[in-house]
Amino acid sequence: MITANHCPSRHHGLISRSCLVTHAAAWAARRGYRATVTDALIDEWTRSKNSVISGPTLTVHQGRHGAHGEWPVLGSYRRLLAALRLREAGVTEVRELRLLLWVAGYGGNEERLVRDLTSACAKRASTARREMALEPEGRASARTPLRIRRQVGRAVADLDPGSIPGLTPDQRQLLGAAFKDPRTVDIGAAVVDRMFRGSHPAVLDGLRSAAAGRPAGLPGPTEIVDATSISAAALAPDDGSNLLLRDLQRARPEDMRRAAAMLNSMPQILRWIRRSARDEGADAPGSKLIAELCSMALALVSSMPPGSRIITLAMLTAESVRHPASPGWASPEVALAS
Ligand SMILES: [Zn+2]
Repeated sequence: MITANHCPSRHHGLISRSCLVTHAAAWAARRGYRATVTDALIDEWTRSKNSVISGPTLTVHQGRHGAHGEWPVLGSYRRLLAALRLREAGVTEVRELRLLLWVAGYGGNEERLVRDLTSACAKRASTARREMALEPEGRASARTPLRIRRQVGRAVADLDPGSIPGLTPDQRQLLGAAFKDPRTVDIGAAVVDRMFRGSHPAVLDGLRSAAAGRPAGLPGPTEIVDATSISAAALAPDDGSNLLLRDLQRARPEDMRRAAAMLNSMPQILRWIRRSARDEGADAPGSKLIAELCSMALALVSSMPPGSRIITLAMLTAESVRHPASPGWASPEVALAS
């Protein structure tokens, strides 16, 4: 059997199946990937219902073996490497692989990808709800469930400000102090409650009272209620009350294309804002802070996990976000009633 190191071909345009598997396996092994590249994986990813990578095209060879299948280097081999990189980052769902490959410029059937995006979001929301053990729906009291408080308490205790990229020592110290403050758990639990149990008046009251009396300069009750609207509308059950899913069901391929362009150009946009803020220097009020915030946002964007990229893509595709004047995200009830 030929090994990747001994293969004499540069594989421009087309590649044989054995070379496809051998070279991809060697590529993944060099990077220390945990999962191996097998024929079964290639078959699975090539199946038309999965379409993670393109199958072979039939080409006629001049040699005595005549016509046999050859695989396009771009659609099969390059896509395969990109899909392996995503799988190593934890993406195993084929529709998420298809979406992220498309975002990265590998193409795909866009009508189908819009449906992929909708179902990927529905699944993520329902998984998140299940993990929070909030089924069955409909129960909402003023009291944040104890389970949510415990989970938030554990999450806050496990958080290490040192592990968040792009923070200055001062910001780290500020966050460290906030994590130790018992009121942080109160507010965190109320925020999670609001995100998962939506806009029930009792839930909103709970959030407002947890956020009341915060020091000046920090977001107050109204800001926190507004800021959690998007997540609440996106995490709602798939029964017509989820604003994100409702928007995505009406989305067109061009909406998703525009969203992908925005997602991909986020680092350039942030760098541009940071540079302009720095150029303005110390004279312009707030320019130092803006530059600092851009640096933090850049660090977050560049280390954004694939799952968050999909949610961001969905948010940017959704009609309510495309039209910022829409009151949809600020008060989902109004948008859902329309
Ligand atoms: Zn080869």
